[in-house]
Amino acid sequence: MRIETLAVHAGQRPDEGTGAVIPPIVLSTTYERAADGSYPRGYIYTRSGNPNREALEESLCALEGGAAAIAFSSGSAATASVFQALAPGDHVLAPSDCYHGTANLLRDVFARWGLQATFVDMTDPAAVRGALQANTKLIWVETPSNPLLKITDLAQIAGLAHESGAICACDNTWATPVLQRPFDFGVDVSVHSTTKYLGGHGDVLGGMVITRTADDFSQRIRQNQMAGGAVPSPFDCWLVLRGIRTLPYRMRAHAENAQRVAQFLHNHSAVEAVHYPGLDDHPGRAIAARQMALPGGMLSFQVRGGRDQAFAVAAKVRLFTRATSLGATESLIEHRASIEGPATRTPENLLRLSVGLEHPDDLIEDLAQALQ
Ligand SMILES: *Cc1c(COP(=O)(O)O)cnc(C)c1O
Repeated sequence: MRIETLAVHAGQRPDEGTGAVIPPIVLSTTYERAADGSYPRGYIYTRSGNPNREALEESLCALEGGAAAIAFSSGSAATASVFQALAPGDHVLAPSDCYHGTANLLRDVFARWGLQATFVDMTDPAAVRGALQANTKLIWVETPSNPLLKITDLAQIAGLAHESGAICACDNTWATPVLQRPFDFGVDVSVHSTTKYLGGHGDVLGGMVITRTADDFSQRIRQNQMAGGAVPSPFDCWLVLRGIRTLPYRMRAHAENAQRVAQFLHNHSAVEAVHYPGLDDHPGRAIAARQMALPGGMLSFQVRGGRDQAFAVAAKVRLFTRATSLGATESLIEHRASIEGPATRTPENLLRLSVGLEHPDDLIEDLAQALQ
């Protein structure tokens, strides 16, 4: 089945009890036992299983083409569950350009737990090869990356991981399975912040881990979900599943708008650089064309000047909202260096855009007046 059909139907069927076409939200935390002590419907207690959560897991498992999907209460909890499935003393290779929360987890939380991490330029295979250690168990990839929109060759990095007995995980939040299916390129684990495009409306926090095969590793993540307890609420699962129904059409519109906005910024004299994998001069353009259906809805650009000039542009926009996060219907603009803190390597003149579903001409007019 094609992804548009999967988005509408996978994990989504009328409720057996009532015939409701849109499934009800099951809020009960506990389930009745039969007289013989068994649980005839399989549900015991909502931390270990809930119908809304199972439906969401089934949907994303189908969209990614995986064998197991495990839902969490946030993207960060999903990421942490993958690191927790490793052992103290193991080594992780992570991108030098990635979601700052992921880098902070490795540096601040898991370092204390004995997990070693090295940050490398994932777009440079020689650097990745050189950073591999005998105890490297995981290569973490994020593509397109945050906030520089670097493109990592998934097949190449997954190949390097497998050569050295490691697994490869991809944070697929920015692309979504509509634009990029990491398992097609040999990646073992796909991770999402469902807070972003999958939820799609800026009103729910969630995360998901999907694995290509059902094995010990996916079992450990399932165990982290149940024992660690960072599970999403039934309502949160219901909201993300509702968002997924329109995901393929939203992603196409996000990408179309972002391409228009990127082209406009690229031609503007007040703009020093635009980072968008749909532009001809983007260094990852060819890889993106190979592994992504479209270059996506996120871009960043550097204003001529420095921090003050970037702030001045962000202060003048009217349609774009100054806010963090991404993937919802409304366009957002953000000065990333200020949210990433003093350790950031993000240029001070960089602004990141989450291009929403407004008409692209309105977005371009807004940026034009802000850049004047
Ligand atoms: C937002 C985000 C996360 C973290 O997800 P939360 O739901 O905020 O915990 C991880 N990776 C990427 C690429 C993100 O954009």
